[in-house]
Amino acid sequence: MDGNKDKETIQEKQLLFESQRDEHQFFLEDQNFCCLCGSKLVFHHKIDYLSLKVQEDADCPSCRIRMKTKDHGLQ
Ligand SMILES: [Zn+2]
Repeated sequence: MDGNKDKETIQEKQLLFESQRDEHQFFLEDQNFCCLCGSKLVFHHKIDYLSLKVQEDADCPSCRIRMKTKDHGLQ
């Protein structure tokens, strides 16, 4: 009797998982593509051995602007 109800619950859980994965994918694309023109960003990494940090720059080849810089520690 309750067999159909269990199936529906499983399908709802799968849908929830799918939508969460899509949001994650969207987040990744937002990081890798220019927010102005949608071109793929070109990443450069500069390693500063004195302070042991990696500076990450993202440039858009179409807009010729620097989108963001990030510092990563090397430890
Ligand atoms: Zn751009």
